[in-house]
Amino acid sequence: MIAVGVTGATGRMGQAVIETAADREDVRVAFAVNRGADPDADAVAGVPVHPASDLSSLLSDHEPDALVDFTGPESALDYASACADADVAFVTGTTGFENGDFSMLQEVGTSIPVLHAANFARGVQALLRTVREAVATLPGYDVELTETHHNAKRDAPSGTARTILAEVAAQREFAEVYGREGVQPREDGEVGVHVRRAGDVRGEHEVMLAGNDEVVTLTHRAESRGVFAAGALDSAVWLAGREAGYYSFGDVIGDSS
Ligand code: NAD
Repeated sequence: MIAVGVTGATGRMGQAVIETAADREDVRVAFAVNRGADPDADAVAGVPVHPASDLSSLLSDHEPDALVDFTGPESALDYASACADADVAFVTGTTGFENGDFSMLQEVGTSIPVLHAANFARGVQALLRTVREAVATLPGYDVELTETHHNAKRDAPSGTARTILAEVAAQREFAEVYGREGVQPREDGEVGVHVRRAGDVRGEHEVMLAGNDEVVTLTHRAESRGVFAAGALDSAVWLAGREAGYYSFGDVIGDSS
């Protein structure tokens, strides 16, 4: 059994990670943090939540196998550095990173194992592979992407949508067009990106390919946050004890040994 620390513990995903870990036998939560938390008042599934300012001392006191992070880009980079200082593996599902942020995560990955995934659902890995295959098979077909998330999501489009666009970009050049308004006919070589924010939708991504009198739609819909939490914990188990490096969830899925 490995031990993990959890950041953003009172957030939607932090709670899901702690609750999911409680049902597993291969991982336990050694400690949890959240910014501004009060360990006498804040707990998730019986795990006291400490202020994030205590992270460095908690890492050295508990020596967990990995830290699991679902917070925001700025805090995730801070927590990655704290892990590098403590020699603890870092798993993050945080989204909204800029390109420079990824360079920083990769730099941290030269001293500890770091794994980032914009989406920890296994079905999304299958979707990405399927999108690659479909775009390669249907070169002249129009591609449109629609994603839907709950009304509190901050970044748009989602990190998963960006990953899907990167899969399309590996097959063909295109210009991203965000929504359309007024007189705006579709140009050749566009990929329309459509973002919806509503209710408590966990995450839905649909890729449409249309041409030659036919339409293909590829859809992934997460039906609980436990799906993402399970993928993040699987990644922590996989990452524990590995060499320093910058890993992806695809590495975890591709190597279930
Ligand atoms: P949330 O708003 O419910 O929770 C975010 C948590 O992070 C909160 O506890 C908040 O206090 C903390 N936090 C935010 N900014 C912080 C900062 N600057 N410093 C310290 N703490 C900070 O959000 P959520 O739905 O749990 O999502 C969190 C992140 O995880 C988002 O980036 C989201 O896009 C991402 N996410 C990823 C996946 C995946 O599979 N990779 C799945 C769902 C959500």
